[in-house]
Amino acid sequence: MNIFQMFMVATVTLAMPQLAAADTLLSNVTLVDVENETLVEDQSVLIEGNRIAGVGAGLSAPDTVRRIDGGGGYLIPGLWDAHVHVFSSPTEPDTAFPLYLINGVTGIRDMGALWPIGDQQALQARVEAGEVLGPRLILSGAWVDAAPGSWPGMFLADTPDEARAVVDRIASEGWAAVKSYSMLDEATYLALAKAAGDADLPLVGHIPERVALGTAIMAGQAGMEHFGRIPMACSPREGAMLGDLRAAMANGADQAAVFGVMAARNRIVLESWEGALCADVLARMAGAGMHVSPTLVVADFYTGNWPAADAPRMGMIPAAVRDASGKPDFRLEAMTEEVRALAQDSIALDRRTFALAHAASVPILASSDASFANPYLFHGFSLLDELDIYVAAGLTPGEALFTAAVAPPRFFGLEDQDGTIAPGRRADLVLLDANPLEGLATLRRPRAVIAGGTVLDRAALDRMEAELLARGE
Ligand SMILES: [Zn+2]
Repeated sequence: MNIFQMFMVATVTLAMPQLAAADTLLSNVTLVDVENETLVEDQSVLIEGNRIAGVGAGLSAPDTVRRIDGGGGYLIPGLWDAHVHVFSSPTEPDTAFPLYLINGVTGIRDMGALWPIGDQQALQARVEAGEVLGPRLILSGAWVDAAPGSWPGMFLADTPDEARAVVDRIASEGWAAVKSYSMLDEATYLALAKAAGDADLPLVGHIPERVALGTAIMAGQAGMEHFGRIPMACSPREGAMLGDLRAAMANGADQAAVFGVMAARNRIVLESWEGALCADVLARMAGAGMHVSPTLVVADFYTGNWPAADAPRMGMIPAAVRDASGKPDFRLEAMTEEVRALAQDSIALDRRTFALAHAASVPILASSDASFANPYLFHGFSLLDELDIYVAAGLTPGEALFTAAVAPPRFFGLEDQDGTIAPGRRADLVLLDANPLEGLATLRRPRAVIAGGTVLDRAALDRMEAELLARGE
């Protein structure tokens, strides 16, 4: 826990520059078909309200429509970050929302934090109505853990009966999913999965520390958060590692023993990872349609690959968050010498396994775990870092883009958004200077970002950056 989780919820006020809402004809752009990795040149896009009304060459529009020359830029669907925590402190969206937009991220899935659901839904509704300028929100933060809970404010379940009762509550409160967390026991986890299915809610989240990946696949878990459990399941010793942890937790939950077992996993996985076993696991995941939100960028925090103190992103977060980043952290202190020594090898194995997962058609949702509560993971910026890691691991830029622009809205089942630029779709778009299929560097400085029909041109994005820097002083 850190200080941000101790605040109570306050009212959000957002002051952001934006152009007056108006219908817009964006002309002279090249459309990027991310799924097929093809381009359609010299197109126009007509935006009415928050929707795309027309797409084509030589579109006409009434004189009252504002005209924007796209200058030969490349237009992509807006990006999603499928794993963030934007409600971990009272005013976090004030900073997080503009950080997402300046980075072209027009949709986020929140995976759990402190705000009451009613306050989250109220802000979500204001974004949808165009009253607040921010990314589209999916509220998947109904995280369920064993008592006392790994974080404050979690739903708790220690028995199958409690799991069923918790899902009833989650369903009645209107969450988009049930999120499983690390300390659930297997019987409670299986009851949670069954109850979520009965309630027509996807089960997403951590695979609990005592549950095998294969069990989670069979239980119908729709999405798994983070990546480490996949290389672990590529070891024939997965069952033994789970058994060691069950034993440590049964012995009065001696925390040092539990940490010891978990710390030993990295070495065991490195020693025993098997390609053939991995291919089998990945084929089962792909067959079940189990989506993965890798959050590979989180490794940078553990290895100390942190931005310089004078990096722009450091200046755009509140001073209190920046100051907390340099403080001792329980997660770093839990690392053993062995884990530290093996870190680069473990990261390399994660990336190799990630590339195999992609090749095996395991669906991937780009995700960063950005939050004020997670040091050095930045709203917006870290999603672009994550995409760069995917390319470094072997994906093409277009394949990496797919995981952020196409896969998330399809996984969420959004009716008006599917990663294509077509009439009827929500007008969440990013205009780029260069062809992103040839490299993702152009994502770092969009020419314009369109969020729910509101056009933020480069000048507006620059003003937002300046305001963030001023507030961060
Ligand atoms: Zn998270």
